[in-house]
Amino acid sequence: MDLRFSAEDETFRAQVREWLAEHLVGEFASLGDAGGPGREHEGFDVRRAWERLLGEHGWIGLGWPASAGGRGATLMQQVVFHEEYAQARAPHRVNHIGENLLAPTLLACGSEEQRSRFLPPIRSGDELWCQGYSEPDAGSDLAKVKTRAVRDGDDWVVTGQKVWTSLAHVADWCFVLARTDPSASKHAGLSYLLLPMNQPGIEIRPIVQITGTSEFNEVFFDGARTAAENVVGEPGDGWKVAMATLGFERGVATLAQQIGFARELDHVMELARRTGAIEDPIIADRLTQSWIELKVMRYTALRMLAEETPGAEASISKLLWAPWHQRLGELAMAVRGEGALDLTGGELDELQRLYLFTRSDTIYGGSNEIQRDIIARRMLGLPRG
Ligand SMILES: Cc1cc2nc3c(=O)[nH]c(=O)nc-3n(C[C@H](O)[C@H](O)[C@H](O)COP(=O)(O)OP(=O)(O)OC[C@H]3O[C@@H](n4cnc5c(N)ncnc54)[C@H](O)[C@@H]3O)c2cc1C
Repeated sequence: MDLRFSAEDETFRAQVREWLAEHLVGEFASLGDAGGPGREHEGFDVRRAWERLLGEHGWIGLGWPASAGGRGATLMQQVVFHEEYAQARAPHRVNHIGENLLAPTLLACGSEEQRSRFLPPIRSGDELWCQGYSEPDAGSDLAKVKTRAVRDGDDWVVTGQKVWTSLAHVADWCFVLARTDPSASKHAGLSYLLLPMNQPGIEIRPIVQITGTSEFNEVFFDGARTAAENVVGEPGDGWKVAMATLGFERGVATLAQQIGFARELDHVMELARRTGAIEDPIIADRLTQSWIELKVMRYTALRMLAEETPGAEASISKLLWAPWHQRLGELAMAVRGEGALDLTGGELDELQRLYLFTRSDTIYGGSNEIQRDIIARRMLGLPRG
C-alpha cells in the first residue's frame, strides 16, 4: 500500500498553500487557529466571514461531486487541504456539522430537491447546522428518542427535548431524529427531519461547561414546524439515515485534527523544556510515548483512508485518539506542576482548557464503551453482552 502523496497531490498542495498565504491575512490571520472544541466562542463573527470567503473560492464541499457544486476532489486531496489548513493555523470552521455531517448524508440519502435547496448555502457558508440526536433519556441508546413529530397538513409539528446540541445557539437549521410512528418498534418509528431553528416553537438554553464557556445547549421543541418535504429518506427511515450521518463523523478531517494535536504536544514539550520539567525521567518518558503514539495514529489514519473502509474501523480510531488526547491534557498539568489548575487568574489558558475539555473526548461522538461494543459485535462477531 502506497501512503505517499502523488505529484498531482503535491501540485494541489502548492495551490492550497498559495491561496492560504494570499487570503489568510489581516483579521483572519490574527485569529490564529481560534475556535474548535472548547473554544467555539472565539472570534465567531470573523470566523463566519472567513467561512464565506472559503465558500466564495470553492474550498467548502471539496469532495462533493461537481454536480452538487463541489470540486470532486480525491480523498488524498482533501487530506492535503486539511493538512495545509491546519498547518497555516487557519481558524476552526463554524459549519463543520453542515459540511461534514449533513451534506454527505444528503448526497447519500437525500432527494434531488433537498440537495439543491440545502447544499448551496452550506457551500457558500450562509447556513449553519446543528445535530439534534441526543435526549435526556437517549444518548448511547439513541433509538429511545422520544421527541415526537406529527403531520399537520403540509407540515410536521415537533414536540420534545434534545440535549447537548452543539452550536444550536448559532445554527439556522437542525437535523432532528424524531419519532413519527409511536406504534412501530423502537428503531422503525423514527424519521430524520430538517428543521429551521429561527421560529417561535423552539427554545434554546445554553449549558455551561466545566471550561466556563458554553457551546452546547438544551433545545426544547414546542410545536416547532417544518415542511412535509423536509424528511430525509422516507418517514420511518430515520434510524438508517441517522446511522449514515454517524458514519461520516470521522473522515479525512482526522488528519487535520492530528496536526492540532501535534501543535498541542509541541506546546507541552516546549513548556517542559522551559521549566526544566523535562529533566524528570517520568515526564520525559510520557512526552516520548505521546509523540510515538501520535505517529502511530497518523499512519493508522492514512492506512484506513487508503483502504477506504471507514465502517467499524472508525471506532478503532476514536479509541486511539480520545484517551491519547486526555492523557496529553493530564501530562500538560503534570508538566506545569503545583497550582496547574489554579483558576484564580480568570480566563483559562490554553493548557488548562485542553485538560478540562478533553474530559469530554471519550463521551461525544459515541462513548468509548460504545465504540468497544461496536468492535465486539461488528468486527469480532461477539454476542451482545
Ligand atoms: C462536547 C459534547 C458535544 C456533543 N454534541 C452533541 C450534538 O451536537 N448533538 C447531539 O445529538 N449530541 C451531542 N452530544 C451528546 C453525545 O452524543 C452523548 O453524550 C453520548 O452519545 C453519550 O450519551 P449520554 O451522555 O446520554 O450518556 P449515556 O448513554 O447515559 O452513558 C453514560 C455512561 O454509560 C456508558 N454506557 C451506556 N450504554 C452502555 C452500554 N451498552 N455498554 C457499556 N457502557 C454503556 C457510557 O459509555 C457512558 O460512560 C455531545 C456530547 C458532548 C460531551
